[in-house]
Amino acid sequence: MKELEDRIRKEGRVIGDSILKVDSFLNHQVDPVLMDHIGAEFADLFHGVTITKVLTLEASGIAPALAAAYHLGVPLIFAKKSGSHNIGSDVYTSVVHSFTYNRDYTVQVSRAYLASDDRVLIVDDFLANGAAIRGMMELIAKAGASCAGVGVVVEKAFQDGGQQLRSSGVRVESLARIASMKDGEIQFVSEENTGN
Ligand code: 5GP
Repeated sequence: MKELEDRIRKEGRVIGDSILKVDSFLNHQVDPVLMDHIGAEFADLFHGVTITKVLTLEASGIAPALAAAYHLGVPLIFAKKSGSHNIGSDVYTSVVHSFTYNRDYTVQVSRAYLASDDRVLIVDDFLANGAAIRGMMELIAKAGASCAGVGVVVEKAFQDGGQQLRSSGVRVESLARIASMKDGEIQFVSEENTGN
């Protein structure tokens, strides 16, 4: 998605060789117009696929996932991180290893909002090693529901989460795919392929 790649190029900051900060439009301050375009793009990509709910993780997934849910005309559920006391005890849980904080945390969704006949589109801001997506897939499986696909805003294709998910048969659509961020220089997969 060119508009997104342009924003990443202009405003993205690389930390080390593997963390991309996009706090000016996605992870802290949020650009609602860009979110709307992202939501429309996901709805286009998954056009014709039966989707009854969109699922994401709090907090950074919520903005793009809400836009996708709006364009698909279905509800958004965001899995809550442990420590949230107002969700009740009737929950599905899974443990996720955080790439950015290097620790495990539990995520949970109330049983009231995931049913066995749901076809769930997972949406998240970043795909790195795939732990967050796999955690959400576990919540879906625990509810007996099915995963209709995965939409991510930024895939870091130099980490293997996307490849693992695709080779296990999951449809993964990424709006920007980063091939490398060596020496602070962001290279997209498309540029790498065309040699630009
Ligand atoms: P994974 O579970 O695929 O290893 O990592 C994905 C999760 O970690 C996302 O939900 C995202 O919040 C966070 N994450 C991973 N890599 C990055 C990154 O480069 N930048 C930002 N802002 N978040 C990231």
